Amino acid sequence: MLTSAAIRQQFLEFFRSKGHTIVPSAPIVVKNDPTLLFTNAGMNQFKDYFLGNREPETPRVADTQKCLRVSGKHNDLEEVGVDTYHHTMFEMLGNWSFGNYFKAEAIAWSWELLTEVYKLDKNRLYVTVFEGDAEENLPPDSEARDEWKKWISEDRILFGNKKDNFWEMGDTGPCGPCSEIHVDCRPDSERAQVDGKTLVNADHPQVIEIWNNVFMQFNRLKDKSLAPLPAKHVDTGMGFERLVRVIQGKSSNYDTDVFTGTIAATEAITGKKYENSDSRESVAFRVLADHIRAISFTIADGQLPSNTGAGYVIRRILRRAVRYYYSYLNYKQPLLHQLLPLIAKQFAGVFPELQQQEAFVAKVVKEEEEAFLRTLEKGLKRIDDIISNTGAAGNASANSTANTGKKATTGTLINGKDAFELYDTYGFPIDLTRLIASENNLTVDEAGFEVEMQQQKQRSRAATAIDTEDWVVLQENAVTSFVGYTTQATKTQVTRYRKVKAKGKEAYQLVLEATPFYAESGGQVGDTGLLSFAGEDITVIDTKKENNLYIQFTEQLPQDIHAPVLAVVNGIRRSNIEAHHSATHLLHAALRQVLGAHVAQKGSLVNEDQLRFDFSHFAKVSDDELTAIEQLVNEKIRQNIPVVIKEMSKDEAVAMGAMALFGEKYGDTVRVVIMDPNYSIELCGGTHVGATGQLGYFKIKHESAVAAGVRRIEAVSGAAAERLILEQFETIRQAKELLKNPKELLKAIENLAAESNDLKKKLESLEAQQLAVLKNELLQQVSTVNGTQFIGAVVSVSSADGLKKLCFDLKSLQGDYAAVLAANIDGKAQVAVLLSDSLVASKGLEAPKIIKEHIAGLIKGGGGGQKTLATAGGQDASNLDAVIVKVKELL
Ligand code: ATP
Ligand code: MG
Repeated sequence: MLTSAAIRQQFLEFFRSKGHTIVPSAPIVVKNDPTLLFTNAGMNQFKDYFLGNREPETPRVADTQKCLRVSGKHNDLEEVGVDTYHHTMFEMLGNWSFGNYFKAEAIAWSWELLTEVYKLDKNRLYVTVFEGDAEENLPPDSEARDEWKKWISEDRILFGNKKDNFWEMGDTGPCGPCSEIHVDCRPDSERAQVDGKTLVNADHPQVIEIWNNVFMQFNRLKDKSLAPLPAKHVDTGMGFERLVRVIQGKSSNYDTDVFTGTIAATEAITGKKYENSDSRESVAFRVLADHIRAISFTIADGQLPSNTGAGYVIRRILRRAVRYYYSYLNYKQPLLHQLLPLIAKQFAGVFPELQQQEAFVAKVVKEEEEAFLRTLEKGLKRIDDIISNTGAAGNASANSTANTGKKATTGTLINGKDAFELYDTYGFPIDLTRLIASENNLTVDEAGFEVEMQQQKQRSRAATAIDTEDWVVLQENAVTSFVGYTTQATKTQVTRYRKVKAKGKEAYQLVLEATPFYAESGGQVGDTGLLSFAGEDITVIDTKKENNLYIQFTEQLPQDIHAPVLAVVNGIRRSNIEAHHSATHLLHAALRQVLGAHVAQKGSLVNEDQLRFDFSHFAKVSDDELTAIEQLVNEKIRQNIPVVIKEMSKDEAVAMGAMALFGEKYGDTVRVVIMDPNYSIELCGGTHVGATGQLGYFKIKHESAVAAGVRRIEAVSGAAAERLILEQFETIRQAKELLKNPKELLKAIENLAAESNDLKKKLESLEAQQLAVLKNELLQQVSTVNGTQFIGAVVSVSSADGLKKLCFDLKSLQGDYAAVLAANIDGKAQVAVLLSDSLVASKGLEAPKIIKEHIAGLIKGGGGGQKTLATAGGQDASNLDAVIVKVKELL
């Protein structure tokens, strides 16, 4: 049997032989693209080539790309595990032509690869082409049809509609007609009965699409219209796991060697047996085998689970997996992290980033699992309650294989409030609630949930929705050159602009022909500054990148957008940022020297005020370590090391020992920042000081934990460090002044603390004496009510604790007794009620009940406690006498 590894290799070799350059997969987590959280197709990393924002280095490439389809336009999550051919994360094999070959070659090669290299049975293949769309004014794709006719009999070429045969990446962006290849994997007996042609694109689990050839010709604009792209391209995507399944002759992706290892490991851990069926237990096996890949590869690419955005997507996938093993494999401890070593090893040759960070990823996964398992049980109980309230018999917390038979109750709803409570209090992502609901034949009131969700969002922050208009293009095919490494001012032109609206405010985004403004990336914030048009200055408030497009943010447009413009960076701010960026490199190297080579960057923020550096490390960084790190960095500053920046090939850089970041996309040529080749070499696109001496001084402000296995250091350097020191001195000066300028400040503070302690003790002992006197006075006042000894008094004490203690001490009474004490403490009512055990037993009185039913109202407050001793507090201290009378009456 051909292994999956060999199948992948053959794909790449085939396209290499057709003149394609093989490139690495882009990270699965997308940066610098507001329309995508994750890579959802092989073409994402090439988007700029299609849009004409960047020149491709070579016109033909091929690769295998890690994709995730769990959010946005392509979301397959609910199918995953339930069916046998949709995954959350999957590999997309692809070949591309950037304005080079078109339909004829793409079609001929896909046929050649499938039938001659992989030797698929031609009688099991069908292809589809776009039938056209009147509304969009698009004709049928007869060109593709004619090309196919050269290879496959006409009755196997089917026309498909816009949904299946017009591919779009998202709501806007590159798109075009496509041609799919489907395989009929049914046994011959079934094929004889039903013509495979009728099952194409009909969700039949054995008649599946494996490859899509997209002919990229259009750009979908915001108003939904289609604009032609500058050039025609080919973008293909073949599902690797599906291809393997077809070649290996299996009826499910999970029966291929891509997944059987994980499934066997899960069997060993849980003691259960996987069978390829529709039972919930089977689904659970598939869910785990699938989800562990999505979870571990996204974490390895630098995205930690969190409560928002991409991090929340990962958290949702992980929680869905936990729920499946907990409920259907009856496994109640963290399981996923145990599968990591196997996955890491399996993919070491293709995506080595996982194995390189195996311990770190395992730790993050395990802690996430533990945290969710702690609330899962409570949440499942709560769901059971909700479900039984709807009238259906709940089994959300079922812990053995449940049957999938339908229940009688239909049409009932889990309302939005309940779904939101599950989300907010128990951490149940909505898709988990939806899943459990559907297992019980219920639906979730999604609209109601959305309303609750929106209300919460509004409570926490104003809506952040951004409304972006289409670009107004002044100059076609302009590729911005970034000149900000060498100059902070340049004469240039606006090449395009657009209007955006956020939080009800209008703003503008401008793209320049050449820009000195550094666009936010690699943790370094974007530049600000000025755009001087003929006699008119426009302020640049930020600069960001969208893929490779440099965008200047402004609050207005100039009168004459066509005028030449002088773009000038705010230089003082830039140099403060640069100091922090260079300090970050010195810090990174120091961390690896002091803590160990396991330290890897997990995030950073560099701005004019400070730097923030997140890194993998499993323990708190001790004070001694922090001091050592700080000293090392300051030593490197004093050595005034020149900062050397070079461009070289990636391989050369890695050979030099450069630190590359996980989840970062690097081209063939990389920029390397060197501060002493024996100390710090990093791949970095940021801007830096000329020599480390410019930093002046480095000071760590704070060390903390951000997530499982990730620590954070916040620090300052340059002018910000000077400011920090001045502030500290000022604090000390003010403290001295408050203490009347003592000779030794610390001694004076110690004395003050000791004195205050002394006074506190004295006060406590005085109060104790006072309470003893008071207690004796009260014992003198015992009266008898209905055969019960009774003490009731409004007393003067200084604290609620004192009142309670005083009341408690009255326990020295014998036989049946009751006491009620009330006090006005700082204008508020405090009450304590004491009952003898005998009284509780014989008369059925209870102190908390008395408070709740008879006292709370009088003092406008409430309280509670033990049956024999309870206390209460309230706003109204004017009825204390009435409280005493009331309790007396109850006897
Ligand atoms: P389907 O209709 O089966 O969901 P699709 O139309 O969404 O497929 P494309 O967007 O054209 O698929 O993606 C190209 C190829 O990627 C498909 O032909 C298929 O082989 C594969 N693919 C798509 N989605 C998934 C998924 N969720 N899991 C595994 N493979 C997938
Ligand atoms: Mg799909």
